[in-house]
Formats: sequence, C-alpha cells, structure tokens
Amino acid sequence: MLTLDTKLEALGRIGAATAKKLKKLELETARDLLLYFPFRYDDFSKVTPIAELKPGESANVVGRLELIQNKRSFRRRMHITEALITDGDSSVKVIWFNQPYIAKNLKEGDRISIAGKVDEDFSGPYFSAPSYEKLESRVEHLDHPGLRPPLLGKEGIGAVHTQGLVPNYHLTEGLTQKQLRFFLSQIIKLAEELTDWLPLDIRKKYKLLSYSEAVKKIHFPKTLAEAETARRRIAFNELILLQLQSQLVRKELAEAHAVPIPFQEEATKKFVGRLNFKLTNDQRKTAWAILRDLERARPMSRLLEGDVGSGKTVVAALALLNVALAGKQAVLLAPTEILAAQHFATLSKLFEETNIRIGLVTRSQTRTNADETRTDVDFTQTKADRKKNSEGNKDYVIKNSDIVIGTHALIQDKINFRDLALAVIDEQHRFGVEQRAKLVTRTNADDTRTEADTTTRTNTDKTRTHAERENREGLLYEDLTYKIRGAIFTVKKQLGLGHKEKVYQGALEEEFKKINLKFDREKKIDIKYNDKKAGIYQPDFVIDDKIIVEIKKLPFVGKIEKEQVWSYLKGTNYELALLVNFFNTDVHFERIINSKQSRSVGVKSASSQRKSVFSPHLLSLTATPIPRSLALGIYGDLDISVIKESPLGRKKILTKIVAEDKRAAAYKFIREQIMGGRQVFVICPLIDFSDRLGVKAVKQEYERLDKQIFPDLKIGILHGKMKAAEKEKVMREFLENKIKILVSTSVVEVGVDVPNASVMIIEGAERFGLAQLHQFRGRVGRSVHQSYCFLFSESAAPASLARLETLVNHFDGFELAKMDLKFRGAGQLFGTEQSGFPELKIATLFDYELMKEAREAALALIDQDSELKKWPELKTLIRPLLEKVHLE
Ligand code: ADP
Ligand code: MG
Repeated sequence: MLTLDTKLEALGRIGAATAKKLKKLELETARDLLLYFPFRYDDFSKVTPIAELKPGESANVVGRLELIQNKRSFRRRMHITEALITDGDSSVKVIWFNQPYIAKNLKEGDRISIAGKVDEDFSGPYFSAPSYEKLESRVEHLDHPGLRPPLLGKEGIGAVHTQGLVPNYHLTEGLTQKQLRFFLSQIIKLAEELTDWLPLDIRKKYKLLSYSEAVKKIHFPKTLAEAETARRRIAFNELILLQLQSQLVRKELAEAHAVPIPFQEEATKKFVGRLNFKLTNDQRKTAWAILRDLERARPMSRLLEGDVGSGKTVVAALALLNVALAGKQAVLLAPTEILAAQHFATLSKLFEETNIRIGLVTRSQTRTNADETRTDVDFTQTKADRKKNSEGNKDYVIKNSDIVIGTHALIQDKINFRDLALAVIDEQHRFGVEQRAKLVTRTNADDTRTEADTTTRTNTDKTRTHAERENREGLLYEDLTYKIRGAIFTVKKQLGLGHKEKVYQGALEEEFKKINLKFDREKKIDIKYNDKKAGIYQPDFVIDDKIIVEIKKLPFVGKIEKEQVWSYLKGTNYELALLVNFFNTDVHFERIINSKQSRSVGVKSASSQRKSVFSPHLLSLTATPIPRSLALGIYGDLDISVIKESPLGRKKILTKIVAEDKRAAAYKFIREQIMGGRQVFVICPLIDFSDRLGVKAVKQEYERLDKQIFPDLKIGILHGKMKAAEKEKVMREFLENKIKILVSTSVVEVGVDVPNASVMIIEGAERFGLAQLHQFRGRVGRSVHQSYCFLFSESAAPASLARLETLVNHFDGFELAKMDLKFRGAGQLFGTEQSGFPELKIATLFDYELMKEAREAALALIDQDSELKKWPELKTLIRPLLEKVHLE
C-alpha cells in the first residue's frame, strides 16, 4: 500500500536511474515529494491568439502544425527542431534543442497546444523550448480529478502541461517538469495523510486551510487565488514555528544570568584611537548600546543591522575587546570558513597592539595569532606540543583563546569553552533561530571547572551546581589559580614528564617560592563532620590559605580520585582544591569545589526547582536590513541597533547592465582597471539546481577567462567543492593582489572584504534576487577607489531587464528585496535562497499581516501552556529546541 513513507522507487514509472536523480534533490519518499513545492506557476488558463503574443511573457497557444523539421547546427553542435504553428490568423515559430524525437511525435497537420515563455528575434516573437501537447490523442490521464480547469475545445482532451495553472519545480539534469508533475499527480492523494499540527482554533481564527488541502492545492491549484490560500497556510506554519522558537529563546533569556563585562574606557579609547579611520556616528552609537548591554548581569540579545560595507566588524570588535580585557571568553561565528579566516586576519591585525589571544577553529584548520609572528601572545604550550594532536589542539586553542573564531560547526560540536561571556554571530540570517538557541542555552558551567589542558573530563554531579554558581561570579580565586597553573607549566617545561610525584612536589615548592606565592606544605587540617572532628587531612600544598593543591602521578584520574579529594575538602573550611596529575603525556587539572563553603548567591526560585541557567551575551550582525516593525515578526527575541550611514568617502558603485555585444569592451575596461592596480570578482550562477555547490558554471567560466580572455593574468577559482585550505589559499592570494580576477560562486556573497577590488561582474544576473545582487555588489566599493558592477543577463526579455535596471539606481538592500517581490508578479512563488532566512522557504519578509498573526498565535499558545503539552504534535516538532531550553 502506498503510504507517505513509500520509497519513490516503489512508484510505477520511477526506475533506479530516475530515483537517483530525485535523490539529488533530496527526494526519497512520497512525503518528500509532496513537500517539494513548486516555485512558480505558468498561467496557461487562457489561450492567447498568436497575433497577441508579447515577448517576455508566458503564453499558451493552440493551433495546427504547419511545418516541422530537424536541423543540425554545426556551430552550436546541436540538433534543432523547428516548427511553425498557425491558429488561422497568424503563425509563430517554435524551436526545440536536442530533442530530435519531437519531429517524430508530431506531424504536420496535428492540432497541438504549446506553452512557454515568448522570446523575440529579428523575425518577431517565437517560442524557445516550450512544453507541447498533442490535443487529438489522449495523454496520460492524471489522477487528480477536479483539480484542473475544464479542458479546452472538443478536441482538447487531457492537456495538463500546457493549460491551466502549471506548476514548475526546481529540477536537476535529466529530470523534466513533465515527469515531476506526473509523479506528483500519482501520489497527491496521500496529502490527506499528512498530520496537521496546527491547533484547530488557530486554523479557524485565521481562516487557514487544513494542511492536507494546502499541500494539494499548492501543487495543483485551479486559480492563482487558490494557490495563494495554499501558500498562506504553508507560510503560516513557517512563521508560527519561527515565532514559537524565538519566544522560547526570549523566555529563556529573561531568566538567565550573564557575566557583566565592565566597560574599559581607557583601553577602548586607545583602541579606537589606533584605527586608521574615524568611527561614524552610527558606529559609535551602536557600539555604546552594545557595551552598555554587556555591563548587565542579564544576557544581551541584540541584532546589529547595517548594509554591506557599513562597518559592523569594528563595532563587534569593540565588544570583543572589552570581553577579552575582562578576562572572559568570546566567540565569533561566521557562516563560511572563508569569512571565519578573514575575521581571524582582521582581528589579529586590529588587536595587534594588545596581548589578546585569538584562535581560529574550523573543520579544517586550527590557528592562533601566536602562530603568526607574535611572541608577546602567550598560548603557553609550545608550538610543537600543540601540533602533536590536532583534536587536542582544537580543544587547547578553544580553551586558551580570549577570542575564538569559527564557523557554526563550533556550536554543533560538543565544545567546552573556558569562560564564554559573549557570542557574536556574523551574517545572522545565515544561521537562524535554532543556532541562536543553541548558544543561548549553552551553559558552560561544567566547563569552567575543568582547567585548560585537560584532555579528559569527568564531572561529579555534586559539584556541578556549585560550578554554575561559581561561573556566574567568575572563576573562584581566578588570579591565584592562574599563578598556580603558571608555576606548574614552568615545572613541566623544566623537568619534562615521567618523573615521580615527589620530584614534581619538590620542584613546585621551589617554584612557588620563586614567584612569591604564600603556601603551606603538608599542612595538617582538621576534618569535621557535624561539628565533630573526624580526622586530619594533609594535602600537598595549601596556597595563600585558600586553595588546596594535590599533586599526583597516576596513570588515570577518575571519579574515585576526585571524590576522595572532595570528601576531604567538604570536611574543611576551604572552598577549592586543585587536583593536578602529571600523566606521562600531559598535565591534567581538576577543580573541585566545596559546596558548603561556596558563597551563597541566590540559586533562583527554589520553588520552581529549576536550575538557573547561565548564558553568554549574544550579538548578531546582519546586512539584511529589516525595518524594526518587521523584525519583531522574525526576530521576536532580539533588540535592534541600526547603522544607517556608510563610512565617509565611499563612492556610489556605478552599476551597468552590459549587453552581450559589449562584452569585449567590458573586458577591455577590466584590463585597464587591473593595469591600474585594481582587482575583479566574477560571480557565476548555479546552472543546475542540484549542483548546489555551483561547481560546473564556475569551472567553465574560469577556463574561458584563463585560456581565452586573460591568458596573461593570474585568475583564481572559488567554489563549494574545494577544500577549506584551498579556498583559503585562493582568498589569501586574492587579498595579497597576486590573483587579479577571482571567479566564484555565490560563496563570496557574504562578508568578504577585499578593499582593492573595484569591479564586480555578475554572469547570469537574471537568476539572482535583487537583494542578493546587491550583496554581491557590496563586495566592491570598500575603499577610495571608484568601483563598478557589471551585470550580464542571459535573457533579453524586457521584464527581466527592467528588474535588473532597478539596481542601477537603488542602493538600499531592503528596498531592493521589496521590489523583487513586485517584479515576480502573479504565479511566482518564492526563491528559497532569496528569502535570506533559513526558516523561510515559502513565507517572505513581506508577509507583514501573516507575520503579525503568526506572532499573535504563538504568544497565545505559550500563554495557554508554556510547555505546549496540550499540542503533542507541535511539541514533537520543536522538541529538539524545547529540550535545549529545559522546558521538559
Ligand atoms: P560590513 O558591515 O559589511 O561587515 P566591514 O565591517 O567589513 O563591513 O567594513 C567594511 C570596510 O570598511 C572594512 O575594510 C573596514 O575596515 C572599513 N571601515 C569600517 N568602518 C570605517 C569607518 N568609520 N571609516 C572608514 N572605513 C571604515
Ligand atoms: Mg561583515
């Protein structure tokens, strides 16, 4: 029996080869396919008289085939099928490429239906590669009665691909729209089995379709109005989930604690004074708001918006600086490895005059600013030590950096920060609320207990809550702990590993003396239980009458060893013991805290029995400028700061649509720019939807430029399939002006900063959204050089050119995004990668009303039952998140 989980291969007509292609689109089961929504409808609900065809528009034409013939084009090396269709009054030319069999299927005199986009050449309008159907014959009868408009004319039986509203899907090579429509028509009834998790009263209140109905209708609507009601329901799903998630994050934050970061005025001023530019007023204002938030004991949750090139990085750097100076840790997350590496370089430079330790940790590399040429930045372990084991190395770098820079892999993995107080997320829109939730609810409580250099970590539950408490106030006896650690490292360096316990104890005693630490050796301490003396404890050292230090040389330190120390410790008046073990491979530290003695900072509301959560301050950066009113709908949990002005002295980027016959002239111009010392980006679009990494197009363009156009210039290539190290090498060479032209997929879209680049070339520009094109354009014009953006379009249709034309005069990302929506017009649904928000596939930024409703509905649900117990299906859906925020 057919179910939602039926594999697609099990359906008739889908063989192994087709299944493989579907898999490329991540379609494996019937459910996957049902939820693979079209991105556009061709509106063929009217038959257009041939005489009224307009280039650039889609149309359906019905007529008689007057002529059909195959030709070979040697220049373009392909088969061309040419046909002429007449509807009595007029006729129109039709061309198909590499489908010679069409001339076998269709005969002169056949009555056919043609649908597609109308192009234009010297002879007037024509159809290029349209869908076609023979009307006399009965084509496959599709299994969705009632979903089609009445079919045309006496002869018009069964036109499904060329009449009515015809859905279009993103495809991959070897799959056709016809196939996909056919497969869907076979399983569309299964939509009835989809669960609808939206509570009925909400559905009623906001007049939403049932989910099953919406899914059916989004594939096969009768009218555009019907398609819109379907879209509205599915968009509502996305928006209410987003709202529920942000509200839960918000709720969590409201109850969480954070480490207050004091504003270091002197150091901040000094840092700002050393910049080689003056901060803009907006940069000052936003930085001030952020630094004030940081001073609070409640976690900041702020979004910094500023168009591309507005200078958000340096504002973030001010926050990072203050956190590092306070001795706490900060993490900076970027959406790509390229950007992470760039931030590492930028910050290493910005903080050159400080001794702040910066670490770069991505999947493929681990580096610190001490590796560069620095001698003043102290990562303590020797370079050789660190190189030994790259995993340990990562751990080491993370724990010992003041600022850790990485990609979101950093929060996906189980990583223990030393003392995380601030998380900065660059290009927030690439991450989404889920990642935000992960950061917010990360308690690094158990991490702080364990000192750097531990390669294994075992916690006893008894000490955990106290560690959390300790964390909120900062590390207990932090300075003293660091001195002790320092002494231990010195001893380790001098003696090496593998000696006896006594040897290390003796050497440490000398070292403590040398650095003037007050200590007692083997002091006798009374152990008391219930005020009765139960024995005497003689630890190796007591430092400054505050910290007990036990030195071991054991093959293994586990729970037993730690509990032993802890059981002694709790009978004393001391708060902290350090268990230090000299393994044969490394030194291992364990902090053990005495609960009874721990300063009693209110563990919150004992009645709620809820552990109080520690959360880092959160700063998100985005170049997708969303008006405040709208931001609530998307970022219900964030406060917002905006940088409006761009740094002084920036020139407008001259933007031009370049016709194909001016291509040579454009290349000549580029050459002149390069001779003048500048550099050039070339962006290529994806040519195949399943080639998500965009490898194909980029390779082709690279070859062409490298071999034919600029054989004398060094050209670089960048795409998603390259190893991170390769990518970074290319970026570095581009930054150093060794590579003159960088051919790339949209990976450069976000954040990349190469001020010397002055020309941005975009191939196939019509395939990108306006906001996205604006982002690309933002990669140039980042210095005093006049910069240029050239758009090449594969379509000369007037509507498509008019859309690109808006870029010439508009420089506001949000306005452009809005215009894009208008240009899309009826029948156009959405562009997944264009919404700019990972959670929004169907909903757009401009669904104002729907967003308000979804927000209202989400708040009402949480109000009724903050744990969502009443709606088990809904709860299942966001359970991963709920677990993270401990609502269970
Ligand atoms: P974005 O906001 O897009 O992340 P960046 O932070 O990368 O922008 O800044 C873009 C460029 O502008 C960088 O090269 C940066 O050094 C420079 N910049 C930042 N602030 C100023 C300023 N106030 N005056 C001049 N240049 C600035
Ligand atoms: Mg940036």
